[in-house]
Amino acid sequence: MNSEQAPGLYIHIPFCQSKCFYCDFYSSTSLSALPSFLEALFKEMEIYSSQFSSFDTVYIGGGTPSLLSHQQLERMLVGIKENFHLTSNTEITIETNPADLNRSYLESLREIGINRLNIGIQSFDQDVLRFLGRRHSLTQAISAVEASRKAGFRNVGLDLIYAVPGQTIDSWLDTLKQAVAFAPEHLSCYQLTLESKTPLGKRYEAGEFSIPGEDWQYEFFMKTSQVLEDAGYIHYEVSNFARETRHTSRHNQKYWDHSPYLGLGPAAHSFQENRRSWNYRSVDQYITGINGGNLPIEETETLTMEQLRLEALYFGLRTKKGIHLQDFKNFYDYDLFAEKRMILSKLQEEGLISIQNGHLCPTPTGLAVADSLSLI
Ligand code: SF4
Repeated sequence: MNSEQAPGLYIHIPFCQSKCFYCDFYSSTSLSALPSFLEALFKEMEIYSSQFSSFDTVYIGGGTPSLLSHQQLERMLVGIKENFHLTSNTEITIETNPADLNRSYLESLREIGINRLNIGIQSFDQDVLRFLGRRHSLTQAISAVEASRKAGFRNVGLDLIYAVPGQTIDSWLDTLKQAVAFAPEHLSCYQLTLESKTPLGKRYEAGEFSIPGEDWQYEFFMKTSQVLEDAGYIHYEVSNFARETRHTSRHNQKYWDHSPYLGLGPAAHSFQENRRSWNYRSVDQYITGINGGNLPIEETETLTMEQLRLEALYFGLRTKKGIHLQDFKNFYDYDLFAEKRMILSKLQEEGLISIQNGHLCPTPTGLAVADSLSLI
């Protein structure tokens, strides 16, 4: 566990203007609750101000944080600084929808201290955007990325989705090519998953379309890795690529190595020592809880050493740097190398992992099946 690391702060903005057809996250399209949500958020910050002193990452996610005006975001950052200390090199990220972005809005985000921009592009193919029910158009996607550079952002990440029904590998590679042409510092490439309660999930269950089989998904994954590595990106986590090591997401790293983090807002998760807690998902329940003077925590769990170890294995094998075997032994009281010697050497022979300089790392092929690797 990395309890000596500075904690990260996550703020969840649970609002979207409309729901994307594939989205299973909790978010409300009723924006009238936004002002009272923000008031509740400030109260939640105050409650935690005595428990967390300093952060070195802030991640404003959602939902769609770019629905907030720059004044609302500025007030949020002032609130954070009034209640907590931010280190001088704090990474401050915001997730955005291309439809909300223009140069002057982006300039104001930079002025208030946001230094890392994540843009939910998803595709540079208008048909795919339409199929996914995205609110933005291809033209807006392109102008959002261009505006981010003109506004002076030097740490820009693009989110993309692949293995969309009807999408060929060539059309996906075309999206990747267009993304690379903007030279973003970070790229997240997620495989589309169809959840049964979503409009796309229902259409799939009604037999309206099929989804690519496992062989195709594997091909999408391997091609993505190869094309982006050839373009100079580091494939540092199953779904994440960085132009240089300094462009990896410092905030997300905290989730992967059991560093502490505080999550504020509905559905936000927090982790400290061996305890994880999460807030009510519903905006109303969250606001009512805070206004009643209570923390809006729905549940807290205390993880056993074995649960922590399994999580560390799961997250570690999803990253290129893998697991440092001695640290794993120190933190989780388990000699992975000695206990799993047989299976590890079999995975090595199959070309799925490598063990070098005391690190157990997935190979590129191993990253493609990372979730099953962690079942060793
Ligand atoms: S913008 Fe993001 S959170 Fe909102 S509906 Fe779409 S995928 Fe879900």
